[in-house]
Amino acid sequence: MTIDGGEFGVISDLLAPLAADGAFALTDDAALLPELPPGQGWVVTKDAMVAGVHFLPSDPPDMIARKLLRVNLSDLAAMGAVPRGYLLATAWTAETDRDWISRFVDGLARDQARFSVGLFGGDTVSTPGPLTFSLTALGTAARDGLLRRNGALAGDDIYVSGTLGDSALGLRVLRDDLEVEPEHATFLSQRYHLPQPRTTLGPALVGLASAAQDVSDGLLADLGHVARQSGVGAEVHLELLPLSVAAREVLIDHPDLALLPLHGGDDYELVFTASPGRRDSIRAAADASQTPVTRIGRMTGGAGVQALAAGRPLTLKDNGWKHF
Ligand SMILES: [Mg+2]
Repeated sequence: MTIDGGEFGVISDLLAPLAADGAFALTDDAALLPELPPGQGWVVTKDAMVAGVHFLPSDPPDMIARKLLRVNLSDLAAMGAVPRGYLLATAWTAETDRDWISRFVDGLARDQARFSVGLFGGDTVSTPGPLTFSLTALGTAARDGLLRRNGALAGDDIYVSGTLGDSALGLRVLRDDLEVEPEHATFLSQRYHLPQPRTTLGPALVGLASAAQDVSDGLLADLGHVARQSGVGAEVHLELLPLSVAAREVLIDHPDLALLPLHGGDDYELVFTASPGRRDSIRAAADASQTPVTRIGRMTGGAGVQALAAGRPLTLKDNGWKHF
C-alpha cells in the first residue's frame, strides 16, 4: 500500500466517518456492541472476497465494496435477522492507491445509508496480492425466531425471491463470453455487480417459512442444503423459475444456457419453504416487504433436489457453481 498518511491516515480520514455508534469513531482497540432488548440475540456471518476469484480486478471499487457488504447482508436475511453493522478487514496491494480506497469507501457509505448499518471496526493490512477483503456482518433477531435450513417438511411449498440467472449471465457478459443487446448487457452486469439482499423479506418470513437459505452457489446447490439439513427431498419446475425480461430474451437466443437459472451462482435471492396453508401469509409478507416471490416447487418425501422440465426429470452435470 503506497498511500499518503499510511494506514492511520486511511482509518482516520476515510474509514472513521463510517463508524457505528459504539465504535468510538474507530479511535480505540475494539468496539462495544449496543445492548439488545430481552429475547433478542446477535447473529453473525462472514464472507471473504478475493480478486480474480470472487470479483474481477477491473470491477469498479465502489461496486466491489457494496457487493462485499451485500453478500453478507444476504446471509443475515436468510436467517431472518435485521442487519445492524459490520467489521471489515482489507488487504491492499501495491497498486491500491488512495483514490481507489476512497471510491471503495464511498460504496460502503452509500450502502450503509441504504441498509442502516455502521462499521464497528476491523483491520487494514498490505499484501503482495491478490486484493482480498473479509467482512463480518452483525444482525439481530429474536432468539427463538431464527430461520434455519433444517425445518422443511415433505409437502411444503418452495419459493424464491426476485429473479434467477441474471448474475450468472451478467458475469458471462462482463467476461466477453456472451454477446447480448446493450440494454440487457447493462442490466445483467449490474445484477452481477450489485446483488439485492432481501433484508426486508427475510425478517418478514420469521414464523412463516419452515426453512430458508440464500442462493449464492446456484439454486440446485443451495436448495440441496435445505433438503439435506431437513432430511427431505425437493422438486422444482424449470418453467416456474422467475426470470427477468433480459434473461428471458437472452435465453431464447441462447438455448444452450436454458438451465443456467437452475445452477448459475451469485443470485443472492432467498429460497425458502412454507406449508401450503401459509400461502396467503407468504403473499402478504412479500407484498409488505415489496419483494417479488414465486412458488417454484415443493418438498418431497425423497432425498436430493430434482429439477423437472415439462414434468420430466432433468439430469445436470453442472449442479452448482464453480468460481472462475
Ligand atoms: Mg448463504
